Amino acid sequence: MSPRAEVRIDLDAVRHNVRHLVGLAAGAGTMAVVKADGYGHGAVDVARTALDAGARWLGVCTLEEAAQLRAAGITAPVLSWLHVPDEDFAPAVATDVDLGVASRRDLAAVAAGARAAGRPARIHLKIDTGLSRNGCPPHGWGDLLEAVADHTAAGEVEPVAVWTHLAHADAPAHPTIEVQAGRFDDAHAAARTRLGRTLLAHVANSAATLTRPDLHRDLVRPGIAVYGLDPIAGAGEPTALRPAMSLRSRVALLKTVAAGEGVSYGHIWTTPTDRVLALVPVGYADGVPRLLGSTGRLTVGIGGVRRPVVGRVCMDQVMVDLGPSGTDHGVAEGDEVLLFGAGDDGGPSAAEWAELLGTIHYEIVTGVGSRPRPVRTVVG
Ligand SMILES: *Cc1c(COP(=O)(O)O)cnc(C)c1O
Repeated sequence: MSPRAEVRIDLDAVRHNVRHLVGLAAGAGTMAVVKADGYGHGAVDVARTALDAGARWLGVCTLEEAAQLRAAGITAPVLSWLHVPDEDFAPAVATDVDLGVASRRDLAAVAAGARAAGRPARIHLKIDTGLSRNGCPPHGWGDLLEAVADHTAAGEVEPVAVWTHLAHADAPAHPTIEVQAGRFDDAHAAARTRLGRTLLAHVANSAATLTRPDLHRDLVRPGIAVYGLDPIAGAGEPTALRPAMSLRSRVALLKTVAAGEGVSYGHIWTTPTDRVLALVPVGYADGVPRLLGSTGRLTVGIGGVRRPVVGRVCMDQVMVDLGPSGTDHGVAEGDEVLLFGAGDDGGPSAAEWAELLGTIHYEIVTGVGSRPRPVRTVVG
């Protein structure tokens, strides 16, 4: 019996996407980004699949995420890049996790972790070239390099890379990309000179991996594209990527509702005639945003046919209109309902939800995938 709500992860799609990205960035290594539990897809499963498909590195945001990969027995290089001031780096250093460093404070904490672990920490120096988020601003770079040189001489750190992150990678011709690339090259050259060693360079997220081969450098860091979501193409536009996540439920109940009755909280939709409605037992507690119902344009796939969701999305339920009563709607209780999937067969997609909501598909899959209630299954 299929579950009430299911987030299905197609690892064959992940494999396909990673092979595609590895092929595009053939002159560089590929770091598959599996932060936020693999964008809601399951970090360990995605990491193993990505490595199997040719990725050589894994990228995560936090030390907890890195530790999860190590605990699963994954020995590939892992970079963790966003840390809080009182972080204990010793376990990460001891388990060979590379660490992003953006400030003297970061560096001091990492060096303390290295002393505790009894071995040097591998560090990737992050330059803020214009995103104004994480990273060392250019005016602090020389000072940071002095401190790095000292800790390197003390045997506490081993500088491995200089890296940055783009603000407008999803607009490949945006002028800020040239500005960021120029600042990056300056910072990389200064680090090479001051530290007297070769350092990897990495810049490109998915969008830049797909569109800016000049920014592939030594290592690309695709995230969303690993999961089959194209950061540039809109919903329904052609892409070489295959979305890996689908969200499914089942028809829990069919009922006829008389003409002129309001449906779901607030009665934002009223039956125009006697209608057959299907109750689908998923809602915003499962990651289906409540605002989708308010657009009046949400549809689901039942038996390959798109059907409109009517009325508000509730915590645990949505209602689907199957048309006037007395007509053959061909839907039975227990039938599978596709909330979103790959979208290639004309069915609903995460990209379509994002467009309806004025957001990005990243937020859809991480929102759905992180909910505790759906049963996660993995195929492929
Ligand atoms: C999330 C993240 C990525 C991956 O970005 P996508 O747009 O998902 O490809 C790469 N680098 C950094 C620093 C990130 O935070």
